[in-house]
Amino acid sequence: MPRENLNPFVIAQSYFQQAAERLKLDDGMRAILSTPKRALTVSIPVRMDGGSYKVFVGHRVVHNMSRGPAKGGIRFHPDVTLDEVKALASWMTWKCACLDLPFGGGKGGVAVDPHALSLNERERLTRRYTSEILPLIGPDQDIPAPDVYTDPQIMAWIMDTYSMTKGTTSLGVVTGKPLALGGSRGRDKATARGVQFVLREACAARKMSLKGARVAIQGYGNAGSHMATLLHAEGARVVAVSDSRGGVQNARGLDPAQLQAHKAKGQSLKTFPGGTSITNKQLLELPVDILVPAALENQITANNAPRIRAKIVAEAANGPTTPLADDVLFKRGRTVIPDILANAGGVTVSYFEWVQDFSSFFWDEDEVDRRLEVYMKRAYTSVAATAAKHQCSLRGGAYVLAVDRVAEATRVRGIFP
Ligand code: NAD
Repeated sequence: MPRENLNPFVIAQSYFQQAAERLKLDDGMRAILSTPKRALTVSIPVRMDGGSYKVFVGHRVVHNMSRGPAKGGIRFHPDVTLDEVKALASWMTWKCACLDLPFGGGKGGVAVDPHALSLNERERLTRRYTSEILPLIGPDQDIPAPDVYTDPQIMAWIMDTYSMTKGTTSLGVVTGKPLALGGSRGRDKATARGVQFVLREACAARKMSLKGARVAIQGYGNAGSHMATLLHAEGARVVAVSDSRGGVQNARGLDPAQLQAHKAKGQSLKTFPGGTSITNKQLLELPVDILVPAALENQITANNAPRIRAKIVAEAANGPTTPLADDVLFKRGRTVIPDILANAGGVTVSYFEWVQDFSSFFWDEDEVDRRLEVYMKRAYTSVAATAAKHQCSLRGGAYVLAVDRVAEATRVRGIFP
């Protein structure tokens, strides 16, 4: 068994280099496109409720701005590292280019377990982090959004901190905001909706039906829980779900409304009474038609890829599959809808939110969904055509499409001075 390097930035670079090779990019262009434009590390002192102080470390990375302002979420998680944020920022560059959005890529992260903080501590942490990265963010500069363990309330505090400092109400500085503050209808479900749209395309390509398909979902937050609800409503059978503490399976199907009610009581899914408990590892290898990783990176590796039984893997999470595993799945004839395509519904509706904030004119949810479907289907078709041309996986196609667009923008802009 080959030893895998699980550093997310090394993995991101490896996927980029495969595309650079296919596009025959010269060394100079490779160096420009693979190096983050800037990376800021800040310390965030927070006064805890008991009166003591703690210092947290945060980052904000802009990978590339050739096609527009940087765009990308903020993650609060104890395992956040600078390399992880660099990888996530580069994936945002490729994702925005893959969807043809006028954005570059950025990402932020704070190494913290937000569940161990009170609401007031979370607010002080968020505001201080925002203030530390404030010179670099802005509606035409770098626009954050939610990611793992951050939510609309945190986006509201970011917007308020930025606005109070600048002396103006700036809605477009951050997306994923509450509706009361210039948020977009449909943003909460957008990542899952986008996965649903491309899953329909992938099912059609494999002559499979989403109706009746057995689905396992790893991670039950914004992406995973909405995924379960939407696929259940479409007639798919959600047979397993999990969160950070473990999961539950039932071959006859699980009811997302009941799962949600169980989670709302503060319970882990592994104690859900309507099925038997399983580990996160076991969930990945269940006999299902569709597997949706919707948690963290490096879940499908060279170690378990030979045992993945799903015909389609739809990457709601960023970076869930390592390059060696990706190869194994491709050779075994599985369809992997890559993260930079599959989960792009989130940033696409964030783009819609930014547009609505600028025009101060807000759309209804049907309009958001309708436009999202157009973007996702168009991207899927372009990715599939590029993959067919290069005789590679959908991931290979998505990267070629995206890297080519960013390289072209870089070429026509030229390098200043
Ligand atoms: P979230 O904070 O809403 O939910 C995260 C979920 O993952 C929780 O249910 C948590 O319990 C679970 N989890 C954490 N560690 C786990 C582990 N080791 N094993 C299994 N489950 C675990 O986060 P989210 O916004 O849903 O993000 C999930 C993934 O989707 C991330 O990779 C994120 O980058 C990606 N993503 C999110 C968005 C978005 O709009 N929120 C957009 C694109 C991609």
